[in-house]
Amino acid sequence: MKIVLATRNDHKVSELQALLAGAGVEVIGLGAFPALPEELPETGDTFVHNALEKARFVFEQTGLAAIADDSGLEVDALGGRPGVFSKRFSPEGTAAGNNAKLLDLLIGREDRTARFRCVIAVVGPKGAETSDGTCEGALGRSVRGAGGFGYDPLFWPVEAPGRTLAELSMNEKNAISHRGRAAVGLVDVIRRCL
Ligand code: IMP
Repeated sequence: MKIVLATRNDHKVSELQALLAGAGVEVIGLGAFPALPEELPETGDTFVHNALEKARFVFEQTGLAAIADDSGLEVDALGGRPGVFSKRFSPEGTAAGNNAKLLDLLIGREDRTARFRCVIAVVGPKGAETSDGTCEGALGRSVRGAGGFGYDPLFWPVEAPGRTLAELSMNEKNAISHRGRAAVGLVDVIRRCL
């Protein structure tokens, strides 16, 4: 059984294929469907809405079961921003720009708790379901660490005291990350939807 992952990133495709080893599915990326638009519809203001919207779009366009994820950072002192707008928080939309904007907005703030959230949606012939995961932590006052991506160098996870997410190995990050946690149970979700 084939399942389409809503991404053009081959690395993410092989990552998911490895994660689903034994589930009896073949994961393919959007590269196999050049007629699909570069940007998938993502019109909601929740991670669940956007993940389901992207997966449903790919399912309808390709006729194959689809998986899509949506994730981002919620900062308590900012009322949950940047949330679903994490990717393009700053005008540049780069990790450096986003982190700099976040640090600016939090100048003088002591309340720096935040969490990453990830929702993975599966849409198939038998139904649609989501799986979610969170990673609790706090934001530092400067970037630290060279691993990971995005807001990782600013984020101090509760579960890895003394280190930012950018200072964890990939395995360490996967064990506590929002994405790693949303992926737990994904095989069962896929079995129910396909
Ligand atoms: P996406 O929905 O997975 O594309 O994530 C949207 C944005 O959220 C990314 O561009 C990052 O800015 C941020 N983000 C999501 N997951 C992570 C993470 O694990 N580390 C750091 N930033 C993340």
